[in-house]
Amino acid sequence: MQTYEIIYKKLLHYYGPQGWWPAESIFEIMVGAILVQRTNWNNVVKAIQNLSPVLNPEKLASMPTEKVAIAIRSSGFYNQKAKRLKALLHWYKNYDYHHKKLQYKETEQLRAELLGIYGIGEETANVMLLYAFNRPVFVADAYARRIFKRFGLDMPTSDQSFRVEVESNFPTNLQAYQEFHALIVEHAKVYCKVKPLCRSCPLFNNCKRVGV
Ligand code: SF4
Repeated sequence: MQTYEIIYKKLLHYYGPQGWWPAESIFEIMVGAILVQRTNWNNVVKAIQNLSPVLNPEKLASMPTEKVAIAIRSSGFYNQKAKRLKALLHWYKNYDYHHKKLQYKETEQLRAELLGIYGIGEETANVMLLYAFNRPVFVADAYARRIFKRFGLDMPTSDQSFRVEVESNFPTNLQAYQEFHALIVEHAKVYCKVKPLCRSCPLFNNCKRVGV
């Protein structure tokens, strides 16, 4: 079994299925992926609640950017994020705001389109691909980098190479990828924090604890 799979299985066994992404619609996942940039999920929940009366693409597109910014204030960087949401909607309109019109688009092409939207980088694009568009991709974020590095793995420097490296050595299974990202975030918050709690960590016996 490849090391990534060992980490995944141990985390899944320890924490159980996480059932991500918490949202009531595909569009809400896309919105949440932008709102969670540079903040934690608790701050996003309030913003999503404020947006709930307009949380469909047509309504949000017709709402002035300034009003969107006020509604999402709790998520931080709200002026920037309001513009990013508008940019996302501008792109999504090309598909009549319907995710089914994107279902046959090849993953690389869809990622390239998402990366072309103002304010959407690798991590956000991959979160959308994984949870909104059901593509089996790895989210190469800072949490994954921290855990894998400490575990003793050599991680490529760029996020793109890091993602490709994991995807080449992990089963192509959508549900496993969706759980893996959620489990990594959980583990980075509970044990493998900036100051790690190694002694009680479920990966302790396998981890080399590099730099700890
Ligand atoms: S043993 Fe320590 S360094 Fe390794 S994954 Fe657990 S918390 Fe992180």
